[in-house]
Amino acid sequence: MSLVVMKFGGTSVEDPAAIGRTAAIVAGRVAKGKSPVVVVSAMAKVTDQLLRAGASAATGDRTGALAISSRLRSRHRDTATALVSEAAVIAPLLAKIDEEFDALDEVLRGLAAILELTPRISDLIVSFGERLSSRIVAAAFREKGINAAHVDSREVVITDAQFQKAVPQDEIIEKKAEEKLRPLLNAGQVPVMGGFIASNEDGITTTLGRGGSDFSGALIGGALTAEAIEIWTDVDGIMTADPRVCPDALRVRTISFEEAAELAYFGAKVLHPATILPAVKKNIPVYVLNSRNASCEGTRIISMAPHCKSPFKSISVKKRLTIIDVVASRMLMSHGYMSQIFAIFDKHQCPVDMVSTSEVSVSLTVDSTDKLPAIADDLRHLADVKYEGKKALVCMVGEDIRGQNGIAAQVFNAVKHVNVRMISQGASEINMSFMIEESDAEEAVRSLHAAFFQEPDPNVFDVEARKTIA
Ligand code: ADP
Ligand code: ASP
Ligand code: MG
Repeated sequence: MSLVVMKFGGTSVEDPAAIGRTAAIVAGRVAKGKSPVVVVSAMAKVTDQLLRAGASAATGDRTGALAISSRLRSRHRDTATALVSEAAVIAPLLAKIDEEFDALDEVLRGLAAILELTPRISDLIVSFGERLSSRIVAAAFREKGINAAHVDSREVVITDAQFQKAVPQDEIIEKKAEEKLRPLLNAGQVPVMGGFIASNEDGITTTLGRGGSDFSGALIGGALTAEAIEIWTDVDGIMTADPRVCPDALRVRTISFEEAAELAYFGAKVLHPATILPAVKKNIPVYVLNSRNASCEGTRIISMAPHCKSPFKSISVKKRLTIIDVVASRMLMSHGYMSQIFAIFDKHQCPVDMVSTSEVSVSLTVDSTDKLPAIADDLRHLADVKYEGKKALVCMVGEDIRGQNGIAAQVFNAVKHVNVRMISQGASEINMSFMIEESDAEEAVRSLHAAFFQEPDPNVFDVEARKTIA
């Protein structure tokens, strides 16, 4: 059986036209003899709106929260009605949509009374996005002749109980996938599931973090040892930079797991940072593809990418970072200082992205979180502490950067007009990154892109597309 997991993002299921395109893509795979498992995100922007509804309810704005829910109810009902005409299907589908929204409204009313939004309740509220989209997509697929079966992902993707960033339990997921998905596939059916949502071992709804549907797709692909994991989105693949920032960005034809993971971790929103892990474990190729341009071959992510003559493959930016400066002159020549500092970040479960040290001072960068005052208080027991937000990390990823003479000079020459606060080179062979003000980030990416992608290697980048645009 040629099993392929196909994950469709929010824009690929945003309205009846998008769901129609998605159905055609899946039908095309089935016609070629493939057995797809389909994983869908919530319809575009729905997760944000659900979070807003939750936040409004938690501040006591019951009417505002219910108004958001009511607009979402209409959008989902209208989408279902536009896609499904068979009376025996649409009536129960609309009833199911109403049942889900009635349940959501109950939660919002309760929240407006309690006025406390816990991570657990937040996960419950956002879960409605994928619960609804997956039902509608499954029904639309059936209407279009695909033998689709809706599966509640919360019965397959089992995680720990860390709400909002739950950690998947791989062995249980493998077992559940065999139990719940394999029989459907063996019977020639196409399972359709919501991404992002999961449950803990007690059956309480959890989520995998924002953008987590990619991760769901990869987890299912890994659990079933799929032949490929396809991430269908609204761009032609992994590009040399975010095309919203650099409209002349080029598609990268092939990239390594390692490079893609680095890009995803350092801000390339096209992939959730954890997507690559399950694929690496079983050496499953991941493809990033465009549901609006299905004939484009996209980006192939594999363990060993072919040699690239250009120094870099892509530039990403991670925003909303904070620099923390820790200065302790009394630590001069002493040891154990770093481990004490890191123990504090560990205690607050706060990952550190970049570190730069001198004899008595250490600068670290972390995501801007509300834990910062508490972290700073703990650090002050050791040293003087200053922290400053609104920073961005620019990350340049390519093959063997460490081995290329003069590369740092070229990079910093390209951004000589920008104030660089911290630099990291050499920690990884494939990544060179530096920290700047968030407000300089876009300009810096455009300057770097102009400097490094003038003559891109045609074996690795889709230079034909650039010629067509020109
Ligand atoms: P989906 O809803 O399909 O998961 P996302 O919005 O999460 O889609 O991710 C796709 C977006 O990622 C693109 O529209 C693009 O703006 C952004 N992006 C950022 N960096 C890159 C990159 N290097 N290559 C392609 N897209 C990128
Ligand atoms: N719907 C979720 C989000 O917007 C998950 C995803 O789209 O991947 O974050
Ligand atoms: Mg995404």
